[in-house]
Amino acid sequence: MISLVNSPEYANHQTGSHPENQQRLEVMINYLREKGEMEELDIHQPKPACDEDILKVHSNTYLKSLKDFIGSGGGYIDFDTYASPKSYEIAKLAAGGAITASKLVFDGYDFAYSLARPPGHHATASKAMGFCLINNLAVALEYMRDEYGLRKFMIVDFDAHYGNGTAEIYYQDPNVLYISIHQDPRTIFPGKGFVEETGSGMGEGFNLNIPMTPGSTTSNYIYILEKIIEPVLRKFKADFYFLDVGFDGHQEDPLSSLQLDDDFYPWIANHMKNLTSQMVLILEGGYSTDAMARSNLKMIKVLKDKETHEEWQPPGKMVVKNETRKIFRRIQNTFSPFFTF
Ligand SMILES: [Zn+2]
Repeated sequence: MISLVNSPEYANHQTGSHPENQQRLEVMINYLREKGEMEELDIHQPKPACDEDILKVHSNTYLKSLKDFIGSGGGYIDFDTYASPKSYEIAKLAAGGAITASKLVFDGYDFAYSLARPPGHHATASKAMGFCLINNLAVALEYMRDEYGLRKFMIVDFDAHYGNGTAEIYYQDPNVLYISIHQDPRTIFPGKGFVEETGSGMGEGFNLNIPMTPGSTTSNYIYILEKIIEPVLRKFKADFYFLDVGFDGHQEDPLSSLQLDDDFYPWIANHMKNLTSQMVLILEGGYSTDAMARSNLKMIKVLKDKETHEEWQPPGKMVVKNETRKIFRRIQNTFSPFFTF
């Protein structure tokens, strides 16, 4: 069973011609409708997160300043993060969407997908950045930890950008394993997410970064993810799984230099599905509305399929760059004290 958590209210985070705009969700939802998929999904409305939920992740000072800034009309918070007059309310709804999806999975759904905006993975405990106001995933994770007593969480983030906010929030936490595959931070925002950033203190070894060179294709992603996710997941044994979804690594996306095609998204969904059987999906980035709509549909079809496809591979020959093999060996060496793969 799969649930989609979405609301037309998300269009009220009004960003105009900003790449992170209301067209993104509209085009995705319309495409699902056009292809007859909406009737086959259980649609749930998000409930807004309350301040108490958000304060488990963000500082009081930050939340107050965000509320005040938006209350006085909004605008650009930094050079690329925008807020409109209703954005505070809508950001709370997006965080609440992640909570709603998490509760649905806990209550028995195989998959629940929060299709929301604004995105969240760049928002740190004390700062909005990278189009993100509130860290939706972290708010949901803390809710599940407190309200349901879950202990260990695993996050796989495949947005083209490193989720520096999520990583920072859990950098010292050995009970939250964060794996992020993203474009090499020397070539893209936010300039962090190197292999050597492995976590600190008790959290050392639980922040695993896979920085991919510009031009990396679906084959390169599969080569490296196939080697890493399964052994790490088996050893860590999480109680709850999040797949942090970003479509901006697609070759048609204007914001990254990655070269993924439509087939990567069903591949990762299938790979995770075979390993976990239940997970929460949370939308982050993706700025080519056409590529997102197509890739998203393919991903949802895989999640809906009752049969599992152990050997499912995208069509075409696997071509893996030497750089990708080198990155894998570096990760293998760096993580040898913590995980074997
Ligand atoms: Zn991104």
